Amino acid sequence: MSVMIAAFLFVLGLIVGSFLNVCIYRLPRDESVAWPASRCTSCGRPLSWYENIPVVSWAVLRGRCRTCGSRISMQYPIVELVTGVLFLGAYFAFGLTPLLPVRMLFACAMVVLFAIDLEHQILPNEITLPGIVIGFVCAMFLPPGWRSSLIALLAGGLFPFLVAEAYLRIRGREGMGMGDFKMLAMVGAFLGWPLVVLTLVLACVLGIVIGGGALLISRRGMETRIPFGTFIAVAALVCAYFEDPAMRAYERAVLALLVWVGLAS
Ligand SMILES: [Zn+2]
Repeated sequence: MSVMIAAFLFVLGLIVGSFLNVCIYRLPRDESVAWPASRCTSCGRPLSWYENIPVVSWAVLRGRCRTCGSRISMQYPIVELVTGVLFLGAYFAFGLTPLLPVRMLFACAMVVLFAIDLEHQILPNEITLPGIVIGFVCAMFLPPGWRSSLIALLAGGLFPFLVAEAYLRIRGREGMGMGDFKMLAMVGAFLGWPLVVLTLVLACVLGIVIGGGALLISRRGMETRIPFGTFIAVAALVCAYFEDPAMRAYERAVLALLVWVGLAS
């Protein structure tokens, strides 16, 4: 472990996170992520370089636009910091290996999907469809290997389809959208089949605990759609970064369940 490399990756994450903010804002609005340069979303004034420094600018300007004084969302520095931490974490989890940039790219996609699904309840095809292809191509040369990747990207579509079908039968309407399937297929393409199953299980647990809790508190009833992609993103990152402990915990939980129902001792 080198402190220099760790610091470099953290700062790189902050800068990349700044670009992810642009994607999070513009993709759901069908705007180009490359052009024009960053501008205030309220008054439209282009930002100068010193207003574009990740986290620092937001803190110095105290979260307000220098010209029009409108609030700049906390989401900007949070996304930048989270991306920095994820890049740093990827270095600790995967070391200086060819897998490192692949997992960093995966983390970027999860951050963008997390935020867009939370705010707009959509998972843009611009991320998920290229993600499936890129994940599979990388798996041809790197872990988890193309077989595991192919099984997972197919299963990533099939398993949730069965869950969605069951939900439809029980509740009489759709609980998951097509975007969730494509996102799970993407997660499967990158992480392979054991981890995509684990991701789905963990996302369901998170969805039930956090989503269910939020629904109870808001009292808006079951009409509110739970942003399932948001939970998939968190679950997929946990599974990618903590593969071994996550698999062991999962095996113990399944075994405990089998013992409890009397199918194992
Ligand atoms: Zn402004």
